[in-house]
Amino acid sequence: ANQNNDAEYDLIVIGAGPGGYVAAIRAAQLGMKVACVEKKKTLGGTCLNVGCIPSKALLYASEQYEAAHKQLADLGVIVKDVKLDLAKMQSHKDAVINANVAGIEFLLKKNKITWLKGSATITAPGQVSIDGKEHTARTIVIATGSESVSLPDVDVDEKHVVTSTGALSLEKVPEHMVVIGGGVIGVELGSVWHRLGAKVTIVEYFDRLLPGFDKEVSLSFAKILEKQGMQLKLAHKVEKLERKGKESQITISNIGGDHKETLSADVVLVSVGRKPVTQGLGLEALGVDLDEKGRIQTNAQFQTNIAGIYAIGDVIAGPMLAHKAEEEGVAIAELLAGKKPHIDYGLIPGVVYTDPEIAMVGKTEEVLKAESVEYSVGKFPFSANGRARAMNQTEGFVKILADKRTNKVLGAHLIGPHCSELIAEIVLAMNFGASAEDIALTCHAHPTLTESIKEAALGTQKRSIHM
Ligand code: FAD
Repeated sequence: ANQNNDAEYDLIVIGAGPGGYVAAIRAAQLGMKVACVEKKKTLGGTCLNVGCIPSKALLYASEQYEAAHKQLADLGVIVKDVKLDLAKMQSHKDAVINANVAGIEFLLKKNKITWLKGSATITAPGQVSIDGKEHTARTIVIATGSESVSLPDVDVDEKHVVTSTGALSLEKVPEHMVVIGGGVIGVELGSVWHRLGAKVTIVEYFDRLLPGFDKEVSLSFAKILEKQGMQLKLAHKVEKLERKGKESQITISNIGGDHKETLSADVVLVSVGRKPVTQGLGLEALGVDLDEKGRIQTNAQFQTNIAGIYAIGDVIAGPMLAHKAEEEGVAIAELLAGKKPHIDYGLIPGVVYTDPEIAMVGKTEEVLKAESVEYSVGKFPFSANGRARAMNQTEGFVKILADKRTNKVLGAHLIGPHCSELIAEIVLAMNFGASAEDIALTCHAHPTLTESIKEAALGTQKRSIHM
């Protein structure tokens, strides 16, 4: 840290997303005098304002709409005249955002953290200028997060050609939404608008959706989405996008290039990835090193190459996830307080909140094969789980990968109902270095979806009971 003992603050955190506000709170708990800079009108960053939380509000609401429309009748619940009130749905989403961001403001106050409003530039180690006003701190943590990237020559107006931000605030259900990029954000927001009545086509460059997730899960997911009525154009790339008023013409070609077609859409969602926010921070003048992807380069202690300046969250390497940023927020505060925190980057769960949900932790089969690790597979379908049947949600499975010799759990890949919640048990087990047998020998309540985890764990030793 900076040697300036007369500094106004022990710590200035730049950015109040899940990385920044968590770092600020933990540092305050540990006795530091902390300020957090945020340039937006509200706290909470991407996650609370235009990311995790609003997307889950719309995913939940649209799922209820679809259930009322299509699925409840199969359970003998007849709902007549199901209608969509999109304005109301959007105001539910806004209310959720407002309650959450107000909660963060309360937490900052409770922890006596100063919210410095405005845009921060680091003028020297220990010096932060906020819209022209100078502040000093012994330590600076950059947590400026990430923003959507677009495609070359594509003009995003957030109405007809949108990023995730515009896709969360549409005032009308699109006729045809073309989603460019079949990653997590594309499949989640594509699902929202498909459920609400849009025709949705997902164009993905890779030969499958959700690259990075287990291949078997991703192939099974693609089939389910197609069954739901979404159009998938896998192994296709966008050649050009032309706007004619409200309509966009998107010319795509298959990889290999012998087939071209043109799609027209009233809304195009560009979800091809996110990039770190490093502009305007004064990093170049300070000589802060960036890596090959433009992220702030840090060592294992989140230190940049400039003494007293640290970085965490989406702006550094690693998965761009809120819970990863939060773990780093706690860790940096504890490091600064002289503690020895530890983050196991191999145990950060990844979740897709579609229907069915997808969740993973640890290694995929593809990675284990590439690393020549010998593993056994335990797999259990939700169609053989009593609770899933009772819920009429039998699609998907739990797959546990265990070391062939020791039975230690190396990874888990789930697709099915409530998998976003189910995965936590396996993350916890792995965090304790559990074998699949440890999970299998644990009594799970009946009838619950979690029994599928127990059965998959038994399956790694070919001992499943219900299959
Ligand atoms: P951010 O949350 O991006 O916060 C950075 C903050 O810094 C911003 O508020 C910004 O205004 C501020 N800032 C930047 N520069 C300055 C400056 N110079 N001065 C002052 N303030 C500045 N992750 C999940 O884990 N689960 C999900 O379900 C999920 N869903 C998502 C859905 C969508 C549509 C999107 C876009 C993202 C989603 N994410 C999800 C990712 C998640 O939002 C990010 O990983 C997370 O917000 C990163 O936190 P952060 O603190 O690093 O940065």
